[in-house]
Amino acid sequence: PRPFLPQHTLVPRSSAVRLPATISERRLRVVVTGGAGFVGSHLVDKLIARGNDVIVVDNFFTGRKDNLVHLFGNPRFELIRHDVVQPILLEVDQIYHLACPASPVHYKYNPTNVMGTLNMLGLAKRIGARFLITSTSEVYGDPLQHPQKETYWGNVNPIGERSCYDEGKRTAETLTMDYHRGAGVEVRIARIFNTYGPRMCLDDGRVVSNFVAQAIRKQPMTVYGDGKQTRSFQYVSDLVNGLVALMDGEHVGPFNLGNPGEFTMLELAQVVKETIDSSATIEYRPNTADDPHMRKPDISKAKDLLKWEPKVPLREGLPRMVSDFRNRILNEDEAKGR
Ligand code: NAD
Ligand code: UDP
Ligand code: UDP
Repeated sequence: PRPFLPQHTLVPRSSAVRLPATISERRLRVVVTGGAGFVGSHLVDKLIARGNDVIVVDNFFTGRKDNLVHLFGNPRFELIRHDVVQPILLEVDQIYHLACPASPVHYKYNPTNVMGTLNMLGLAKRIGARFLITSTSEVYGDPLQHPQKETYWGNVNPIGERSCYDEGKRTAETLTMDYHRGAGVEVRIARIFNTYGPRMCLDDGRVVSNFVAQAIRKQPMTVYGDGKQTRSFQYVSDLVNGLVALMDGEHVGPFNLGNPGEFTMLELAQVVKETIDSSATIEYRPNTADDPHMRKPDISKAKDLLKWEPKVPLREGLPRMVSDFRNRILNEDEAKGR
């Protein structure tokens, strides 16, 4: 097998873009892998809006053309159907590497995190592009520190059902730092906490999309375990602003990008009920293995160095997601002739 570590330790530091303060005046070429997905498509919208040329690389594993269809015909936008587990040749200034099956029902047994990240780092090294990896709060596992700071090394089960994702992202971070130290690639690491918003996969099993879709369909909201576990929910526009601030800034990271507002799953169900349907009910289900008991980002580092913080609280963000979900569920029902 080929070694994972970069071989060319004597390669000079890449000449990757030194971004001027007025970035909107530059016409950057940017790749977004996973750009047909939930977060990726919102990021692409922001980059196009500020005048960048954007190439999306996506194999549509969980992403949808619908998320990008409004950009078809825009001369600054290109879409390539490609699996990042295979090498690819492109010429760009920046690479946002999001491609990854991100939900528990999708990510099992998938090598994307390791092989896809390796290829995108190889690409960044060859062309001197700046590389950003979207890592995850899952690198902290079931945390023994609360809230989690970037300095915490985590508490992850290496052989559990979630390991493919947690350990995959940890490996992706390791590869990213190896290419940075060994080959001089300019890198950025974001550790994203639970994010929600329009265009989320309807049935990917994540808690916000599940509760919202269930409440709209008049089904009980499925609470796993006792519902006392906590998560901190970030609205997607806040995340996208954080990703761009990180990419364009001068700091490698890792940076936690999340909203510190912490909720138990029962509290989340209550907010969904207030937002969508006051008669919504809940139903308890057994919890999944190795489910983290709590999660909340310490975002002091991002506030301090990136001048970034989230702006949209759950009670404001949720209604914006609900109208998108209502439309899509309605369309689905019509297509099924219900
Ligand atoms: P998503 O599933 O909507 O998007 C992932 C995209 O990657 C999809 O369009 C999918 O088709 C594409 N993809 C998957 N495997 C691929 C492959 N081998 N080649 C090419 N494309 C591939 O998920 P998302 O929520 O938008 O997540 C985007 C990124 O953010 C992921 O890296 C994820 O790990 C990270 N993240 C998301 C959250 C969150 O709460 N949404 C939290 C932490 C980290
Ligand atoms: N790679 C790619 N596009 C490029 C350059 C490299 O997809 O433009 C892939 C390459 O095929 C390899 C990986 O990135 O699988 C790592 O490349 P690197 O040059 O670092 O490693 P090497 O090929 O020297 O093992
Ligand atoms: N969860 C739940 N009901 C659902 C889906 C998830 O109670 O229908 C719980 C899950 O057990 C976990 C939390 O919600 O404790 C967040 O799960 P999700 O898969 O959204 O994100 P992650 O576990 O990756 O943070």
